[in-house]
Amino acid sequence: MSAQPLLSVRGIRKLFAIRGGLFRRVKAELRAVDGVSFDIAAGETLGLVGESGCGKSTLARCVARLHEPTDGSIVFEGEDIAHKSMREMRPLRRRIQLVFQDPMASLNPRKRVGSILRDASRIQGLGGSRQEERDRVVELLDHVGLAAAYADRHPHELSGGQRQRIGIARALALNPRLIVADEPVSALDVSVQAQILNLLKELQEKLGLSILFISHDLGVIRHVSDRIGVMYLGKLVELAPAEAFYQGPLHPYSQALLAAVPMPDPDAATHADKAIEGDIPSPINPPSGCRFHTRCPIAADICSRVEPALEHHGEGRQVACHLVTTSTTGGPTGAQAVRTFSRE
Ligand code: SF4
Repeated sequence: MSAQPLLSVRGIRKLFAIRGGLFRRVKAELRAVDGVSFDIAAGETLGLVGESGCGKSTLARCVARLHEPTDGSIVFEGEDIAHKSMREMRPLRRRIQLVFQDPMASLNPRKRVGSILRDASRIQGLGGSRQEERDRVVELLDHVGLAAAYADRHPHELSGGQRQRIGIARALALNPRLIVADEPVSALDVSVQAQILNLLKELQEKLGLSILFISHDLGVIRHVSDRIGVMYLGKLVELAPAEAFYQGPLHPYSQALLAAVPMPDPDAATHADKAIEGDIPSPINPPSGCRFHTRCPIAADICSRVEPALEHHGEGRQVACHLVTTSTTGGPTGAQAVRTFSRE
């Protein structure tokens, strides 16, 4: 990884006003994202997980600047884009591309695939001669594993997996550095999901892309992520290298999420007692202290009073929990994080 991250997000908050009454006055604020910080290096994939409503999609939309964040900075290639106007964003937009969950909704049904891909390039002034544009369409289709003949098809003539390949090809048309993929496989059959995940991984390696991959499913992001970030009620509660995370997440919420993932490993059954209970509280009036304390199986007195900070625990791991302490011991593969829980 290079010393300078491609993307550096610091203290991002996104609040939505809830209006009501005769004069549509602001009655409350929904804290969708509430002080999130992370980096993404060039060529790295950060997988961001959490239950529905945790703020991960809002965060993705802030990074892609479909939303302007309320506070915080988003430094992309050395430039803070958090509060740039739409006009100022225009030349930068092609460097950050989105891949959506439902490609059908984002592809013009009246246009052929070739035309969709050509338009994407032209909008950003990346067009060329007719032959150059044709060659570029064939190249993009090849990148996503589709034959040149698909250029003549309409989106409704394609399967869900093929449409998502076109969605990815359209994002690649602009030579982006960062792809923000928001639940890109959750609308697809399991067998097709694996193909799209493999495709994203191949493209990342081939083109040196960075990817912010949003999913509610830890089983899905395992296949593509270098690091895992876990969000709960607008906060990042754990950030860790993928391998260390899947060997043993440190935050009780991460442990519960991972316990809910069906795994062929017979040891996985031993985590069943950690399965998460209860509904996610409202982001309009989040719990005091640690936001997870209303569902946490090991919550202590301090948890409802004091908000835990996201702290470093060695080996690139960060956790926001009062009861996680880390020491390091030598081991056959180097230092290992050791987790201990203790009630105060
Ligand atoms: Fe549970 Fe307390 Fe840790 Fe929050 S701070 S995750 S409530 S132990």
